[in-house]
Amino acid sequence: MQIALPNNMTADDALALAHQMTHLAHHDALTDLPNRILLDDRLTQAIAAARRHGTHLAVVFVDVDHFKHINDSLGHAIGDQLLQSIATRLMGCVRSSDTVSRRGGDEFVVLLANITQTEDAVLGAAKILTTLQAPHHIAEHTLQVNASLGISVFPSDGEDAETLIHRADAAMYQAKNEGRNSYQFFQQAMNVRAIERQSLEGGLRHALEHGEFVLHYQPKFNLKSGTLTGAEALIRWRHPDRGLVAPAQFVPVAEHCGVILPIGQWALREACRQGQIWRDAGLWPGRMAVNISGAEFRGNGFLDGVRTILRETRFDPHYLQIELTERVLMQEAEPTISVLRALKAMGVQLVVDDFGTGYSSLSYLQRSPIDAVKIDRSLVRHINTDPDAATIASAVIGMAKSLKRQVIAEGVETRDQCAFLRAHNCDEGQGYYFGRPVGAEEFAKILDMGVSDAVLLGKGSVFPSSYHLDDVAFLGAAP
Ligand code: C2E
Ligand code: MG
Ligand code: MG
Repeated sequence: MQIALPNNMTADDALALAHQMTHLAHHDALTDLPNRILLDDRLTQAIAAARRHGTHLAVVFVDVDHFKHINDSLGHAIGDQLLQSIATRLMGCVRSSDTVSRRGGDEFVVLLANITQTEDAVLGAAKILTTLQAPHHIAEHTLQVNASLGISVFPSDGEDAETLIHRADAAMYQAKNEGRNSYQFFQQAMNVRAIERQSLEGGLRHALEHGEFVLHYQPKFNLKSGTLTGAEALIRWRHPDRGLVAPAQFVPVAEHCGVILPIGQWALREACRQGQIWRDAGLWPGRMAVNISGAEFRGNGFLDGVRTILRETRFDPHYLQIELTERVLMQEAEPTISVLRALKAMGVQLVVDDFGTGYSSLSYLQRSPIDAVKIDRSLVRHINTDPDAATIASAVIGMAKSLKRQVIAEGVETRDQCAFLRAHNCDEGQGYYFGRPVGAEEFAKILDMGVSDAVLLGKGSVFPSSYHLDDVAFLGAAP
């Protein structure tokens, strides 16, 4: 490329311009941090130096948690300022011999150029996490952000820049999976997972186009009367080679790569479509609960998507329940509440899933238009064996009831658990004790029989795994 210089430019001007252009080529325009090119360069030099001196270095991959949400809800200008603030904070965490770079989006890579032991990297990572957490004051907003960090160390995790960055990225992904706001060191197994993840991403898109997803339906019961109150729709991937794949194996990946948006839309539409088919056939499926992940809920088109699906499937919003986890609800309380209100105004019921796993906030529950909480199965599992679980479970039930919210227990597997929940006035129950998730056809048989008949059939029912409701006490009034 030829650049025409003005005639009157002096040698000094030309030098300054050349300098400026070199700077631009090596720095990120938004934060003025070194970009990928300069980082690769510095990393390569640092590796050579570490090799010469027999020292170590660490690469820390930093990804801001839920940045997209802030960008989407508050606008790009605020998002940009937040990234600048994060860049400044990161610079404050490191020594002058270290490099903080921005890879693009909300991803930063920090090179800790001279560490003597892995503990140094741990200290560095911990410092980054705490430094970023302090509130960022941007325009009139006070923003709190967390980050997920992945660390790779030279020479044990890789001998060249590309490998080290790649492995720090894989470790970061693991940190996200383990609940965010944490750091992870690279482990060999992650490399395998990163490769699997890539092929999984492609597989998920293919699955969507080829109709390989199915929904299973798990019944929910009123614990006082024993009647069916509805179903939870749970997605499965009918993989041509691997058989039925559980959501835990692909939903997190789908969330990470964004393909959860079309998958989630598919699931919501399919659940409403199926619910309406049952209603048109004169069956009573009760309320249909659909799980919505954070990425979907925070996506721009979420509310419109729900409206469109309800209209197109003709499914009455009053029969739709949306399940969101505590974690999703506790982030960014204000925008979340406005979306919840809009759903509520449509008539949709709102349920907090996996409730009681550590993020619950009584005041939040009180302020938000939540209809029901679903006690997490990890609590239900130990309800009869661990006094702490029993105490927490009964406190959760009591608290939710005092706020006039419904309480559903998930993962009910035994008669004793069921008895405990009934004794503590839990409203609804769901779990293997009553029935496993089954395909639409099998669920239709349950509906076709009429639920109370199915209940009365008890163990002799045609559903081998379902309805252990021969428990006579169950059918009477609450104890
Ligand atoms: P979840 O919403 O908490 O769903 C309950 C999970 O507990 C289901 O696992 C269900 O099969 C399982 N379960 C039910 N009864 C029992 C029991 O008695 N004992 C035990 N141990 N487990 C029981 P599943 O179907 O594997 O789903 C796992 C998670 O995947 C769900 O947890 C939900 O968070 C997510 N998921 C499922 N379908 C969708 C979907 O369509 N969209 C999104 N975004 N997430 C989904
Ligand atoms: Mg659920
Ligand atoms: Mg749950």
